[in-house]
Amino acid sequence: MDLLGKTENSALAESLDIPVSSCSVDVHTHIFCWGENPEEGYLSENTRKMWKTRLVLRISGILSEPGETISEKMRNRLIRHIQTSGLDYAVVLAQDAVYREDGSRNDPDTHFYVSNDHVFDLARECPKILPGCSINPIRSDALKELERCREAGARLVKLHTAIQGVDPSRPEFDPFYKLANELGVVLMFHTGWEHSCKVVSQEFTDPRKLERPLDHGGPVIAAHCGSCAWYDAEQYYPHFVEMMNRYDNLFGDTAIMASMNRWFSLLRMSREEDWLKRRILHGSDYPFPTARLPFLLRTGLFPRERKNPFDLDLLVKSSFKFGPGYAGQVLKLLGVEPSPPPPGA
Ligand SMILES: [Zn+2]
Repeated sequence: MDLLGKTENSALAESLDIPVSSCSVDVHTHIFCWGENPEEGYLSENTRKMWKTRLVLRISGILSEPGETISEKMRNRLIRHIQTSGLDYAVVLAQDAVYREDGSRNDPDTHFYVSNDHVFDLARECPKILPGCSINPIRSDALKELERCREAGARLVKLHTAIQGVDPSRPEFDPFYKLANELGVVLMFHTGWEHSCKVVSQEFTDPRKLERPLDHGGPVIAAHCGSCAWYDAEQYYPHFVEMMNRYDNLFGDTAIMASMNRWFSLLRMSREEDWLKRRILHGSDYPFPTARLPFLLRTGLFPRERKNPFDLDLLVKSSFKFGPGYAGQVLKLLGVEPSPPPPGA
């Protein structure tokens, strides 16, 4: 009997059963920039003025962090949280702009932007940070930017289907997918309905749209496993499962899946068969908070990990026992050799 199910035949998935599973990696975290230096990154004026944004600034206590500007405060907090967490690494994601069909950048329609150079800066400052670049394949210099980012050390590129207006099934993106494979860059796509920012189209977040990049054969990560909030008009998680069945080079990350509006999504996925769960990767979606209430029976009332948002998120998600490589196997996908522990550690 085939105890391991379909992944037993997959060289890619098999090669992931490796000792680095003892490492803890968060493959999906964010940094935001307020916009004091727009080259580095920004939130649009509309987004900054939104009552939701103002409220988050206030209740998160970010304004009392050390730092001259709001962006500096956000950067300092991210680095402090990563340094003091039990994680070995966190992939911090850039966020490319919206582009017009002629390949030119569309700043007026970009509401959330973080430059690739900014995440490279963060990675230089904090050795636990791995740079996750973002390139909109519509941009005229997409291939050049992909080469530049790989040369600068990026092993993962994220495409935000909904916010960046990227339909992954467009044939003209083939050269981009091909080059990513040749360079050994993992492609991550946002899947599932987006709620935190203005979107171009929610339809682009359907995991069925990933057929084309998956056909190129390299590893593809469906961020959020296609999960949607319980009140969304579409439910894409079944499409994620369908695609996991069809492609053994597809992986899913658990970013945002411990939030209040998707609290059920982890439990639902934990009931899948082992072959599927072995290709689930840990991601938090920091700084979006992890809900405590739905998981109290799993974490206890006052777990030690509650003091650090990365630790709390990993505690909640590890309790679902997705697979032995849940938090560590992504290092192999990224081709990153874990650095040896410091002497005396
Ligand atoms: Zn995210």
